[in-house]
Parts: sequence; structure tokens; C-alpha cells
Amino acid sequence: MKNQEVSAIFRGIAELLEIKGDNPFRIRAYLRAAETIEGLEKDIQDYAAGERLEEIPGIGVDLANKIKEIIATGKCKYYEELKKLVPDTVVSMLEIPSVGPKTANLFFKELKIRSVDELKNAAKSGRLLTLPGIKQKTIENILKGIELLKKGKERMDLLTATTVAEVIVLELRRLRDVQIISAAGSLRRMKERVRDIDILAATKNPKKVSDAFINLPHVKRVLACGETKSSILTKDDVQVDLRVIDPKSYGAALVYFTGSKNHNIALRSRAIKMGCKINEYGVFNKKGLCLASKTEEEVYRSLRLDLIEPEMREDTGEIEAASKHILPKLIEIKDILGDLHAHTSYSDGKDTVEAMSQAAASLGYDYICLTDHSVSLKVANGLDTARLKKKRHELESVNKKLKNFRILFGSEVEIDSDGYIDYKNDILSGFDVVIAAIHSGFKQSRKQLTKRIVRACQNKHVHIIAHPTGKLWPTREPYDVDFKEIFKVARETNTALEINAHPYRLDLSDTASRLAKENKVPLAINTDSHATSHLAYMKFGVGLARRAWLEKDDVLNTLELDALLKAIKK
Ligand SMILES: [Zn+2]
Ligand SMILES: [Zn+2]
Repeated sequence: MKNQEVSAIFRGIAELLEIKGDNPFRIRAYLRAAETIEGLEKDIQDYAAGERLEEIPGIGVDLANKIKEIIATGKCKYYEELKKLVPDTVVSMLEIPSVGPKTANLFFKELKIRSVDELKNAAKSGRLLTLPGIKQKTIENILKGIELLKKGKERMDLLTATTVAEVIVLELRRLRDVQIISAAGSLRRMKERVRDIDILAATKNPKKVSDAFINLPHVKRVLACGETKSSILTKDDVQVDLRVIDPKSYGAALVYFTGSKNHNIALRSRAIKMGCKINEYGVFNKKGLCLASKTEEEVYRSLRLDLIEPEMREDTGEIEAASKHILPKLIEIKDILGDLHAHTSYSDGKDTVEAMSQAAASLGYDYICLTDHSVSLKVANGLDTARLKKKRHELESVNKKLKNFRILFGSEVEIDSDGYIDYKNDILSGFDVVIAAIHSGFKQSRKQLTKRIVRACQNKHVHIIAHPTGKLWPTREPYDVDFKEIFKVARETNTALEINAHPYRLDLSDTASRLAKENKVPLAINTDSHATSHLAYMKFGVGLARRAWLEKDDVLNTLELDALLKAIKK
């Protein structure tokens, strides 16, 4: 489908027009067209082929011609010309949170600022203060935004990292010379951010495997190519290191290269205390005799430890637990029976009720809760009473079609600046599951934000608090709340906190989730899907939960439907 391509170009045009300070009606027309085309269920090419483009709301002759041009050539001349007028580097300023097209335009026109770096210098030197409407506070926000932007570029999110790693592992696994292959490093530990990707392959023919690796079609540049390690830069600028290992020391190497550094240090000191030595080749006794090397299990066993799951290897008590045989049995993706936070095209999701439910059923789930936004979240097309009614009817009819699967009627409701919910109680009581979230007023104090969440927990209709600290990668830091207080109230009121599995959120964090568990707070792992493809993000949430030492029983959506509905009751 060309729909995404066309709407991306229209959005780009709107952005450039806005930087230029063009007619707001024209800008709005491009934006609206972009949104409409994105939301079309049919392929835009079908409309073009039937000369029916102008039937689409908001598309006149001019836009219809541009759409035809994009379909035919993949480009739009008008867009290309606009790009010449506004340097790319100015557009790059828009990536800074708190810098919109209007301000970018102001910086460009008045001070000839053409890049993020130039903007940073101007902000520091005080030059920006000469501009109308720019205050000290604006400058502070810009500098903070630049910092966040740079930090974001340094590290990869888990979605990018797993996508790249999975493709490469899959291709190398096909080689006859590869006996075992696995990602290692922070990706294998499912850390929230990953700097580069480490892959380990066991082979008797290292040269052949390394050669195949550096000649993969994804390679943009070969950074290094040695006997045991090769590094490449992929076409998406991701660094991938491949280590080729003799199969007999694969387990030791996997422990070593999975880390974490602190975990490895702790293992080494344990080995020393036992009169042994551990390195990437194995565990050795004083005489240099190899005690274990082939599998991870053997390596840990030789140190009198149970096998420690990669996600727990952070030196936060796992070695002691493994030595006492009291490691938790971590939750697994197969334990998840449903997803309690997903959006449909009723609010800001891309897919219909039916498509989302079918997709969830095909994952083997028993249920999904469709939690479209509530009435006051206008930007996300929140539902008023009439549309709620319509959605409810649709749910009922789709529910009749699906066997052994249930769609729950839910909503993601707004916690307002005082902690109150935007739907009235009679509406709230009609939902199967209510999740409450903060989507505005993040800048309040720790005390106020805590109070808002506490009050939401105290609402007897609210079952889950979604993304409890509001962080959004790479631009929004988590807001500061008093977890001690929130955990206490959540437990007392039987309100669950969400582990949002979306790779840009992952909120609660791993450490906060572990604390929540220790405080006996109910937890749910949800994807916050806005399209059927997002349902697969569950694995990131489960990864985080495993880092938090969570077991099946700690997570609500491992329960069967009846038990779940009973468990969330207030
Ligand atoms: Zn939300
Ligand atoms: Zn949501």
C-alpha cells in the first residue's frame, strides 16, 4: 500500500510550509489529507486507478494530482522544491522536544540558525533572548530537549535492536557451519536500551562464518574483520559484532559476553573463593583443568549455582539466590493469556475492533480489552457517549463471531490535573476494565502528580493505572512520583499498575516493578497497541518483567478470564 508513503510526504509538506510561515489553511489541508489517507482502509492506488481520489474527503484536484504523481514516481516535485528552500538541518531542529515549526522558523529567519548545534550555541550565548516570545524558561527547555535528543541517539530501543538481531541471526543460522547462534550482551538481558548488538556463533569453521557475516545484504560498512570477531554497520547504522566461538567453549563464552559486567565480576570472585578461575573459555581449577565450558548450565553448576536467566544477570542478588536454589521461576510469554490495553480506530488506533481481536486471538490469547481513549482526550479522538454506545454494539456482534475468545469493553480514561476521571460514574461502571492515565500536566510537582495517581487509585471504577511515570522514548523523561505512597494505595485499593510493553515506554521500569512486587502491588503487562502489529510488543514487557524477577502469579493477565475479572474487582 502506498498510503503511508503519500501521507508521509503530505506531512513533510505541512511541516515545511509551517517552517516557512505559509497560509495556515493550506498547512491544515495537507495535515488533514495525511491523516485521512493514513486512516483509509483501502489502498490509495485503487482510488487513483478508478479516478476516484476526489471522493476522499479533503482531496481536491490539486492534491489528487500530487497523489497520482507520488504513486507513479515515488516523489512529489512540490515537496522537493520546498525542501530546497528550507535546509534539512532546520527540519532536524524539529526533533527537539519543545521546538515546533514556528520557533524553528523564527531561529532560521531571524538568527540564521541552521542546525541543532548552532541552536545550542545560540541558546548558551543568550542570543535567543533577543527574539520575541523567547524567555529564559524557553531556553532552558530547549537545552534540556537537545540533551534528551542526543541521549536518544546514543542508544537503541529494544524494538530496533531485536529487529536487526533477529534478521541477522536467522540468516546466519542457515549456514551449515553454524552449530548454535544467539544474541548476547544487553539485548539478551532485555535491557531497555542497547548500544550495539553482540551475536555469538559456535562453529568449527570461523573464517567461513565471518565471511558470510560481513557479506550480508544488510551491511553498509565493515568496521573490523578478525579471526574471532567481526563488526559491521548495518544500513540503519546499527553496529553488530559477531564472535565466532569453538563449540566446546560456547557456554562459557555466552556467559561472558552476555554480562552484565557486574554479574561477571561477582562470578569471578565466587570462582576465586572456590579456588577456580572463570573466563570466556571455561571454568578451570588450580591445575588448569577445565571443569565446565560447553553449556551455560555446566558453567553455573561448576560454581555450585543454578542456571541464572539472562534477564537476572545484574548482580542484584541473583547469585546468592542461585546458590541457595531459591531463584524465582520467571514469567514467560506463554503465560500471558490476554492484553488489557489496546486501541482501535474508534480512537487513535489504526485497526478495527474486529482486526485487533482476530490478531489477539491468533496469538493464542483468551481475551483482549479494547481501551480506546476517553472523551476529553481530543487529540486522540476520545469517545463521547454516542460513540461509546456504537462501540459497545460492535463489540457484542464481533464477540458473537469469535469462539473461545472474549473482547472486553474498556477505556483508557484521563486523570485530570486534580486526579479526577473524565467520565461520570454511570459510564465508568459500564466498562469491564478501566485503565486510567495521565496524558497532560506532566510538569506538576512530585506531590501533585502523586496525589493525582493516588486519587485515581481511590476511584472504585479504576482497575489499572497505565504507564505510571509517563516516560516516552526518546523525548520525555519519567515524571517524579512518590512510589512508596503509590504502592501503598495501589495495594490497599486493589488497583493494578501497568508494565507498558511498548518499546518506547517500558514503564514501570524494571527496578520499580521489582519494588512493586515486593510491596504486593498487582501488576499487568499490556502493549498499548495502536495497530495489530504492536500486539507482538508483549515480549518486551515480559522481558522487563523478567528483569524485575516477576513470576506468573505476579501478573494479572496470566489469569483466565473469569479469574481475572474477579481479581480486579474493587
Ligand atoms: Zn496512554
Ligand atoms: Zn493507550
